[in-house]
Amino acid sequence: MPGERRVALVPETAQRLVKQANEVVVQRGAGTEAAFLDSAYEQAGARIVDDVYDADLVVKVQRPSAEEIGKLRSGQLLIAFLAPLVDPRYAQTLAERGVTALSMDAIPRITRAQPMDALSSQATVAGYKAVLLAAAQLPRFFPMLTTAAGTIAPAKAFVIGAGVAGLQAIATARRLGAVVEAFDTRPVVKEQVQSLGARFLEVDLGESGEGTGGYAKELSEEAHRKEVELLAKAVKDNDIVVTTAAVPGRKAPVLITKDMVPNMRPGSVIVDLAAETGGNCELTEVGKVVVKNDVTIIGTTNLPSTMPYHASQMYSRNIAALLALFLKEGKAEIDLSDDVLKGTVITQGGTVVQEATAKLLAPAASA
Ligand code: NAD
Repeated sequence: MPGERRVALVPETAQRLVKQANEVVVQRGAGTEAAFLDSAYEQAGARIVDDVYDADLVVKVQRPSAEEIGKLRSGQLLIAFLAPLVDPRYAQTLAERGVTALSMDAIPRITRAQPMDALSSQATVAGYKAVLLAAAQLPRFFPMLTTAAGTIAPAKAFVIGAGVAGLQAIATARRLGAVVEAFDTRPVVKEQVQSLGARFLEVDLGESGEGTGGYAKELSEEAHRKEVELLAKAVKDNDIVVTTAAVPGRKAPVLITKDMVPNMRPGSVIVDLAAETGGNCELTEVGKVVVKNDVTIIGTTNLPSTMPYHASQMYSRNIAALLALFLKEGKAEIDLSDDVLKGTVITQGGTVVQEATAKLLAPAASA
């Protein structure tokens, strides 16, 4: 995919697979932008080729392009971020090609699957990078400094949404020396926020945003209105706002309205990690950095790709953990009674087998 700098297998994982008696082929230059050179893969025992689509199993970061789909053959295995719930028709296409497709964004969030959780590993990168982008734009220091030119007050950062990305943003802003405040509609995260040295903003919304499986649920209209009202003050009082609020399968909630932005101090920075799903700030422009009312709003997408070395290393380890589940002595044994595989395998034997995706396709089929 244009602009994607990550690679799905790093030499470390390639070597592990080779040691387990698999043959590993790597597309020429696949890891170069992530600082993994072809020579490192060759040293790890992999072969560099121009086309990997002969392989029995193809591992990617982003989903295959239309051209690549044309190269897929029946019985082949494919692992990538396939986003089947966002685009179920794409899953249908893969099923029609007879491919067994596993989606890295469908790994269930159960304890056993944590080492495979690519959404979390990549969210860690995004949360970290969000703060660095803010620091680079902010016309102020982050830390408090005592200098011969007088004392500099520390920057104030506010993080909305304390999931994996939000917690990493809090930790990074703290390490840089900012005074950090955070908010989440799931009150259970309060302790995690405090353990990172940040203040948890206590606001009574009259309901909890705790949904099932540790995820957030959408707030009622009334609670959302209350939240926006209460966040207005915190947004105004901070120099940096990082927003990560998301509800699985929904458009991101708008939490910073266009009326709040002019109240922020000139030079303040908003980093909207929810830009791709609609944005938490009403003025965010997807994929762009814009200045509105003297406030910089960063809507850059795919932040993990901007730190491709470690993002790839973590993704590759996630993949290795998933492969360990079903790759036995060079043979793939996919057992759909396994909890993890049941959620992750999207297509098999020419059909869409994953329940949630199949459900989305069902009304389309009957129509
Ligand atoms: P996410 O990316 O889906 O959402 C980010 C955060 O936004 C969440 O914490 C959510 O509560 C919050 N949010 C949603 N609506 C909001 C609103 N209106 N205002 C403020 N905040 C709002 O979240 P995530 O990073 O996927 O994490 C969700 C939870 O899942 C976390 O508790 C995480 O620790 C847990 N988790 C568990 C596992 C596992 O058990 N294997 C793996 C990963 C994450």
